[in-house]
Amino acid sequence: MVSGPSGSGKTTLCRRLADEKEAHYSISCTTRLPRDGEIDGKDYHFLSRKDFQSHIDAGALLEHAKVHENHYGTLKSEVVNQLAVGTDVVMDIDVQGANQVRSCSDAQIKTALIDLFVMPPSKEELRSRLNGRGTDAEEVIALRMRNALEEMEHWPEYSYRLISETREKDYLKFKSLMLAERLRVSRLK
Ligand code: 5GP
Repeated sequence: MVSGPSGSGKTTLCRRLADEKEAHYSISCTTRLPRDGEIDGKDYHFLSRKDFQSHIDAGALLEHAKVHENHYGTLKSEVVNQLAVGTDVVMDIDVQGANQVRSCSDAQIKTALIDLFVMPPSKEELRSRLNGRGTDAEEVIALRMRNALEEMEHWPEYSYRLISETREKDYLKFKSLMLAERLRVSRLK
């Protein structure tokens, strides 16, 4: 699972790993409205608050959290079904969700779990990346900046940390981590 503030580049990293067929990208549920160009079922499962609650009540979510005033959650089916057939899964989740997954009791998930925190190189760069996205309103950017700084304090809870440089360097490090973890003897038993 990969966490990091908006603008850290974590979603791009996760998506690319999936595009290269190295892993399955877990498509989350969210109550947030789709941004321009986002597709239901591809970027997220966009749900009403009521439908999101039904998923919680049915026990269909592995974890869920409120982030930036919206609800986000990981479908158990997105993770468990893939792990069962030997496919790695990447999850792009916030620090609260990551905590819930760490304490989950499913043996298969516990064995497969790697947690990585992606940090932007500096506050200035983060601010410029959040501005540059161009899809969100001013107050949304300000809220994300505040949340980002708060979220960044959680990196010591993770086993791995990647300080973002360029897209290519970041991806090389990310993929190297995945490949190295697959060689870990405890995963082979
Ligand atoms: P965005 O709205 O920019 O796509 O995502 C906002 C935040 O929600 C990001 O920090 C992202 O990692 C987090 N997020 C996305 N999907 C999930 C999820 O399934 N669970 C949790 N806990 N957080 C998520």
